[in-house]
Amino acid sequence: MIASSLPLIEIQSLSKRYPVGSFRRKMLHAVDEVDLTISQGECIGLVGESGCGKSTLARLLARLIDPTEGQIKVSGVEIANMPAKTFGASRLRRDIQVVFQDPTESLNPGFTVFQAIADPLKRLVGGTGKEITEKVLAALNDVGLPKEYSSRYPHQLSGGQKARVGIARAIVVDPKLLVLDEPTSALDVSVQSLILKLLSKLQAQRNMSYLFVSHDLNVVRLLCDKIAVMYLGRIVEFGPSKSIYFSPRHPYTRALIDAIPDPLRKNAVRTKLEGSASSPIDPNPNACRFSGRCPVELPICTQVMPELVPTTDGGLVACHRAGGEDRS
Ligand code: ADP
Ligand code: MG
Repeated sequence: MIASSLPLIEIQSLSKRYPVGSFRRKMLHAVDEVDLTISQGECIGLVGESGCGKSTLARLLARLIDPTEGQIKVSGVEIANMPAKTFGASRLRRDIQVVFQDPTESLNPGFTVFQAIADPLKRLVGGTGKEITEKVLAALNDVGLPKEYSSRYPHQLSGGQKARVGIARAIVVDPKLLVLDEPTSALDVSVQSLILKLLSKLQAQRNMSYLFVSHDLNVVRLLCDKIAVMYLGRIVEFGPSKSIYFSPRHPYTRALIDAIPDPLRKNAVRTKLEGSASSPIDPNPNACRFSGRCPVELPICTQVMPELVPTTDGGLVACHRAGGEDRS
């Protein structure tokens, strides 16, 4: 995982809101003013509980949906507001590939493995039949599937094998960034760790960047250089994986970590979350999204939205209490 300083992806003030309710007069804030930079070769983990906006952010980045506001630059080129047709026809379409959560749903049941992997290659790269065959077989080999599998259909594959095909289909066009939306959450634990090892190997070999989405902090901390913690559409903490795991600053990050069974931290004081997340529909713009659920809430937390500010260990945290309190 060699990260250079050149930003591959620069996300600025990115928001996605959905009109909901009767007369669609209310707004669901799925992603709210997110800033994120991803360098070439860097693996960023994106964690947070179900419904916090991870998939929406992943889909925005892969340009599968249009943002309400904000910018996404890929190698300096703004794509968020580029018409879908222009984007589809540009080289940038190849640069960002997605691996979805459920390989069964994302593979066309009528396509053989060969056809599934050849499809993006034909659409985005082109080449002669011979060139395409060579690239498909090389991709199969890279993901650890024998070439005999190329004539099989999805229903003839195990979950792990389907996941490998999903990865082969993404890497075959030689992308710079893989957006991985919970790529292993549909798999058994033993298969999960094999797929994570494969992803780690591929990243090192090809110096790709990853945005690795997961609800499981334990998974991302092993694979990723940095972690972004999301809560109700906003990034509340960002930093090197080690600092996030061993000295979290945001009470929500602490609660996520405390939920991980870890024998090394069995005597630690554990933060437990009470209640459920408040609604993403028309949230109070002047309150911390975590207020009402936060165990260390102050009066200011329902009056002023905390902004992300730098921490001493190279991260960012959005909490009025951060800095004034250290539990590590
Ligand atoms: P996650 O992947 O973290 O579970 P999502 O990005 O799928 O979260 O969803 C974030 C929020 O946006 C949720 O409240 C979800 O219900 C809402 N949402 C997602 N897609 C749509 C849509 N097309 N229309 C309305 N609301 C949506
Ligand atoms: Mg999701």
